[in-house]
Amino acid sequence: MAPAVAAIAALKPGAKLADGAFEVLAVNEVPEYNVACVELVHLKTGARWMHCGADDPNNVFNVAFRTTPTDDTGVAHILEHTALCGSDRYPIRDPFFNMLRRSLSTFMNAMTAADFTCYPFSTMNETDYYNLLGVYLDAAFFPKLSREDFLQEGHRLEFKDMEDKNSQLELKGVVFNEMKGAMGSQAARFNRALGATLFPTSTYHHNSGGDPVSIPTLTHEDLTRFHATHYHPSNARVFTYGDLPLERTLAKSQELALGKFDRIDVSALDVADERRLTAPVKVEVPVPADPVVPDPNKQSVVSVAYLMVNQIKEKEAELENFALTVASDLLLNGPQAYFHETLLESGLGSGFAPGTGYSSSRRETSFAVGLKGVAEADVTEVEAKIQGTLERIAKEGFPKERVDAVMHQVELGAAKVSTNFGLGVAFGAMGTWVHGGDGMKPLKIPVLAAKLQAAIDADSKYWQKLIQRRFLDNSHRVTVVGVADKDYDAKLEEAEKKKVAEIEKSLTEEQKDTIVKEAVALRASQDGDQNADILPTLKVSEAVPREIKHWNSLITKTSGGFDLQIDAQPTNGITFANLLLDVSDLPDRLVPYLDLFADFITELGTKTMDYKALAQEEKLKTGGIGAGVNVQQSLDASAPPRVYVSLSGSALDRNVPAMFQLMADVATGAKWAGEDARLGLLLSRRAASAGAGVSQNGLSYAKGLANASIDPVAALDYRTAGLPHVALLQRLAREKEAGVEEVSAALAEIAAFALARNRVMRCRISAKPEACDPAVKQMEAFIDALPLRGADAVGDELTLAQSLASFAVAPSKTFVATPTQTNYCAASYLTVPYSHPDSAPLFLLGQAMSTSFLHREIREKGGAYGGGASAAPVEGVFVLSSYRDPNTTATVETFEKAATWAAKEGNLTQEILEEAWLKAFKAIDAPLAPQSRGASLFTNLMDDESRQLFRDRLLDCTPGRMRECAEKYLVGKTPALAIVGNPASVPDVKKAGWTCVDAEGNPLKEE
Ligand SMILES: [Zn+2]
Repeated sequence: MAPAVAAIAALKPGAKLADGAFEVLAVNEVPEYNVACVELVHLKTGARWMHCGADDPNNVFNVAFRTTPTDDTGVAHILEHTALCGSDRYPIRDPFFNMLRRSLSTFMNAMTAADFTCYPFSTMNETDYYNLLGVYLDAAFFPKLSREDFLQEGHRLEFKDMEDKNSQLELKGVVFNEMKGAMGSQAARFNRALGATLFPTSTYHHNSGGDPVSIPTLTHEDLTRFHATHYHPSNARVFTYGDLPLERTLAKSQELALGKFDRIDVSALDVADERRLTAPVKVEVPVPADPVVPDPNKQSVVSVAYLMVNQIKEKEAELENFALTVASDLLLNGPQAYFHETLLESGLGSGFAPGTGYSSSRRETSFAVGLKGVAEADVTEVEAKIQGTLERIAKEGFPKERVDAVMHQVELGAAKVSTNFGLGVAFGAMGTWVHGGDGMKPLKIPVLAAKLQAAIDADSKYWQKLIQRRFLDNSHRVTVVGVADKDYDAKLEEAEKKKVAEIEKSLTEEQKDTIVKEAVALRASQDGDQNADILPTLKVSEAVPREIKHWNSLITKTSGGFDLQIDAQPTNGITFANLLLDVSDLPDRLVPYLDLFADFITELGTKTMDYKALAQEEKLKTGGIGAGVNVQQSLDASAPPRVYVSLSGSALDRNVPAMFQLMADVATGAKWAGEDARLGLLLSRRAASAGAGVSQNGLSYAKGLANASIDPVAALDYRTAGLPHVALLQRLAREKEAGVEEVSAALAEIAAFALARNRVMRCRISAKPEACDPAVKQMEAFIDALPLRGADAVGDELTLAQSLASFAVAPSKTFVATPTQTNYCAASYLTVPYSHPDSAPLFLLGQAMSTSFLHREIREKGGAYGGGASAAPVEGVFVLSSYRDPNTTATVETFEKAATWAAKEGNLTQEILEEAWLKAFKAIDAPLAPQSRGASLFTNLMDDESRQLFRDRLLDCTPGRMRECAEKYLVGKTPALAIVGNPASVPDVKKAGWTCVDAEGNPLKEE
């Protein structure tokens, strides 16, 4: 047992810690995860504390408060934000964002769940841990919560020209805009309606994040009152994890925060049991239409939801709670699942409804299942199918081999080494623990799996009884029908405008003056210098080693002479395998289908197994097998990029032969023809989810579009996974049989070209040392099973490599109109390849511009949820972007100002560089899971020498070098521009000379 674990295991209930401030309540060893946990009570206030001792340097701290809103104003969420805007010991404007750049944290955030708010961080650096601990405790227990911060983070009225009270009045605020973005999709609105219907009386009825319609009714007084009653040690839970000594953390917390409070009565915050329905309920709600739909006559959503286990009261139902997660998997996941067959394959809808699945994150658990993309007339048939399926299982139960496959996944999940294991437990514990339930819940999975196995073995009707009781006999059942309205967001916007106009009319001159005064004061304080020096910070020279981490990959050859990389790592009994196949010479006309090829290769079955049997076998024997498309870019741009398909798989060491057998079956026998119904279903589901995701993935589409106009590799990415791909999917789905035929032929051609020995670039095994050799033998046999030569492109057909070589740079200026209330803006510049001396300073410049200029201009002043700059050194591009942004061309102007600012002598200081370094090394030195160590050498040939050179250049950078790069690559250069956003902006951007298109890339018709 590691010392950090043994120290906790040795504690005894009743023992006092931190000079008697805390008393041990319970100690639990969890050998399955090599940790020991202790639960403590803070005697003076009743605060609960759980520490999980582990032999893991990635230490975690998470303080949570039960927050139980009684309306949709987003009070808990706005409080979460405002608490981070300055506190007693750190009375500056923005300690949280300042700490982000003064720390080497591996995670720093704050989040509002439905019934708690938490402030977690993790770091591998001991000094950093205690620095952050002090700042977090002060923010949580002693925040300023000033009116000014409330206006910035929550909501405020402001004139369009803030100093002119005769200009148009507008609503602004960080959370206000964040929630407009968050609620701006059919999935979000439907999910919310489902939750509100399922929980008619308790706190879960409300939107804890805040509904943009209700947020403006929250007052500053409401906020401070909510803080006083909720953010108190008596209502707090603290979770810590890792190898640092518990005693010191407890003593610090006692001294800095907990010791300064007396106990208060928080029983008024207890969440009552939901009032159980005695008869099922059915409601109809309007929801936004998806931005892109394959069939305009099928746009309804229907879902049936059941309220299930009370996790606090039904202690004996712990096992059933776990059994229901297994049942949910059997019902929903994979083509062999029950609802896959009865709902998805029925053709009644385009995919599962939002919110489908089992949820145990709330006090009482629930299960929901349904379809989206349904014709209004078919809604009742969907309901009947759900009922019919459950009735069948209540009679037949689940087949043993299906259950075995899920249990195998549970075993794999427990074995897999994750870099954020501690954080996972820190979040997983809170849902039940804040209500006085079990905080050990996330650590019990292996034990519960064993108990469940015993229960199933002992009772052959276990599943039948479970389904009967929790589903069929459950009267707390709700059916929610979402009716799509394509004007949903426009109506909301109209209503908002009307409301603001009414307010404007009612304002006295005096009130208008106050709005101007407050706006000007807020702007002045945003622009003012803050004395961040009072915050603790790490020094790069002390905290960051000059030398890279060496993974000692072994580079060798297979018996057949193929390049092989072996990474012997502590993978805890799991083997990872990877094979790259060069497709650079693929006919260019097949490129649009490459992503479909990779994603469908395991979805259609093989010569010997149909797709259901294949999915079942994959789940029973492996951690997944699959394929992806990627590009290897030359680090010094001396060679053209090489495009490859990567085949990969993972399995428990004992199942490695079975895994390679499956990979070989798929690579040599995937059924590209003859599965038309299956392929049609895969295409229509993909079309629906891609169409629905355009607004939510706006940022990546905007960046992709801008990059694609200046960089050939980005252009390839954009063709295979950007908006052209969304458009292709819609066309294929509309064309039905013809679409299926087209895809089936293209995928078969790609397979015949790619899946052959002469395409092999190299392969890799990552496993514990003694498992490597046997896995290499299996890999060799797998390669031998591939055909010798792939089919070549015929005649003078244009190849992918030729199309990449003939790429011409033509910077875009494109606006993509999609139904959403906010915008995503991107500007990209071409820079230099990885090995160029400027690439490291550019990498730091991105960090520096984000924290020292863009955050203030785009988020604080502009009201966007986020904005920043980043250099992609391997791709050789520099991108500025904004996220959930109310602005369009104004943000593009801010991007230009950012470049000018950075290029001005004296603006980039040594202090800014220090912060940029910390942010850069946070990314570069992020903990890697064992199987990922050595991966960048394999995929991009990034060897130790080039990694060390880049690191040296980072550490040798100066403010002057960053300034030079801003001047050389950004100022006065024409960036590629793209915005994905609100159609209401079209007239304005058109005037500014932008090309406007719809989400499928078609030019917008003149109004
Ligand atoms: Zn937020």
